[in-house]
Amino acid sequence: MMLTKPVIFENNGAMNGIEKLISLLESSRSAAAFTGAGVSTLSGIRDFRGAGGIYQDINPERMFDISWFTRDPHYYYRHAREYIYTIHTKEPSLVHQVLAELEHRGHLPGGVITQNIDCLHEKAGSRRVMELHGSICGHTCMECGNKGSYEDVLPAASQGEVPLCSRCRGVMKPDVVFFGDPLPQDVLELAYRSAASADLLLVLGSSLVVHPAASIPLSTLDHGGKIVIVNQTPTPLDDYAELRFHDLQRVFERIVRHFGMEGIH
Ligand SMILES: [Zn+2]
Repeated sequence: MMLTKPVIFENNGAMNGIEKLISLLESSRSAAAFTGAGVSTLSGIRDFRGAGGIYQDINPERMFDISWFTRDPHYYYRHAREYIYTIHTKEPSLVHQVLAELEHRGHLPGGVITQNIDCLHEKAGSRRVMELHGSICGHTCMECGNKGSYEDVLPAASQGEVPLCSRCRGVMKPDVVFFGDPLPQDVLELAYRSAASADLLLVLGSSLVVHPAASIPLSTLDHGGKIVIVNQTPTPLDDYAELRFHDLQRVFERIVRHFGMEGIH
């Protein structure tokens, strides 16, 4: 890997960075996207870590810790009532919608690898979605393995109560990777494969600090692909990026205009 690639910033004047991004997208054959919390904050979902993140109000190490959950699932459901089980009221952001449309038009065959658990990529219509930290859309009984949907648990969860299995009255746990849970190896493998074979990886709204976030774009670089980073705050891979932008909304508004994506806003 080389550190000598030129980094073209949004406002460098010499070349319009967004035009360059569009031409990279149009000429790529195996592009994929990697998304983090910044994409969902555009949908009004609070970031777990950033400014105004929910981690300032609650103890996340307890809320999303599997041994705590096993001992006392009430703590999770009491806080998740407000932060998690309101997600059905949120709509996909501009970025979610554009990524789904790019995939639909064949510009994103590698799909979307995401750190987000809110199912908004699916809701926007993305078909190939790899959820590294699982998702809130499914729940599983801790006793018998019975599956339940978000809608199944909503009546209890929206009241801050622990939803129980319809079969055995066991505790339903969201299919989210908690601290202490293993990462889903099958998803991880698909994600690495997609990133490694991508000639272009769009890194969107992630500061690339949570494992395995940073290693996925590295896999693209290691195999000779390019990465483009759009994130408000610096990331450890900024120096390796072909292009680096800060404002997701602005970049994606330009993509919408260029591709004539009617109905996306
Ligand atoms: Zn059960």
